[in-house]
Amino acid sequence: MSKRDYYETLGVSKSAETKEIKKAYRKLAVKYHPDKNPDNKAAEEKFKEAAEAYDVLSSAEKKQKYDQFGHAGMGGAAGGGFGGGGGMNMDDIFSQFGDVFGGGGFGGGSRSRGRRVVKGSDLRIRLSLNLKEVAEGIDKKIKVSRLVNAEGVTFTTCNTCHGSGQITRISNTILGQMQTASPCPHCNGNGKSIDKRPQDTDANGMLKETETVKITIPAGVEDDMQLKVSGKGNAAPFEGINGDLIVLIQVEEHEQLIRDGQNLHFDHYISFADAALGTNTEIPTVSGKVKIKLEEGVQSGKILRLKGKGLPSVNSYGVGDLLIHINVWTPQNLSKEEKLFFEASKKSKSFTPNPTHKDKSFFDRVKEMFG
Ligand SMILES: [Zn+2]
Repeated sequence: MSKRDYYETLGVSKSAETKEIKKAYRKLAVKYHPDKNPDNKAAEEKFKEAAEAYDVLSSAEKKQKYDQFGHAGMGGAAGGGFGGGGGMNMDDIFSQFGDVFGGGGFGGGSRSRGRRVVKGSDLRIRLSLNLKEVAEGIDKKIKVSRLVNAEGVTFTTCNTCHGSGQITRISNTILGQMQTASPCPHCNGNGKSIDKRPQDTDANGMLKETETVKITIPAGVEDDMQLKVSGKGNAAPFEGINGDLIVLIQVEEHEQLIRDGQNLHFDHYISFADAALGTNTEIPTVSGKVKIKLEEGVQSGKILRLKGKGLPSVNSYGVGDLLIHINVWTPQNLSKEEKLFFEASKKSKSFTPNPTHKDKSFFDRVKEMFG
């Protein structure tokens, strides 16, 4: 469908002056205004069409472009217009009215209709978990102080809006009487007001109650994650919908294990003698200690991987690993005798570094870890 000529839309001649254009537009805006034509799609289209025509013809710059190029001159950013014929939206149109009608009371405000359902506010709590709880998942019972609707509160229909939830204002404008609707300030748009309420309740018939809420924490949660427990926030006044309880997860640092996503890392320090001779040693995991055997000649920097001893993921299958980083403790503050022992060891060939291909370099191990 091709676009109608803007002059034709407003019913004015090409030589029409600003005053005449404005007058023509006012007439159409009043005739097709949505408040006068509720749920009338055709009227809404006419209303938008007129607004668009007025927007162009009331601006000297846009009018000149339009006169020269027609609708083609209005497209794109250069035209400052309505890109691709999408038309103006209602907000644009209503904001334009200040200019046309000299401001004040012409339907620019809230256009919400009907009763609103009120939602209670959300409650927020922090929940601290240790790594074992993260690894296994846990049910926590938490005391929450929430606003609830008290027993024995009775309601009547709001006197101000008579239950409709909105009030209609009639204002006199140069266009004649115009109706505007806005949420009822007395009942906050829900159409009810309190008839009777117990003494210990607030103005909305609500009171604070401590409730024990069971929160199921899935395994694998991470620091700063938020869990939502639906409906366990504050109740809404006038029997609306409950808010939610938002649980902010904080994971406590483990004394020995460092978390990296699903993997855990443990720095294991062994003595020079244990490295040389091999040893059985204990490693902490989230679920207690495990024994591992270190072969004789284990090198500093070696990384051992305990499969499945890491953490599960909250979003996927599989469990991470526990990576044990071997650090050989170089003796410090040696006594005279000990120094002699190491001096003598210098003559021994087996004390001289002799890395083979099997002893991966630091960089190879890093690659392996993240590969
Ligand atoms: Zn009301």
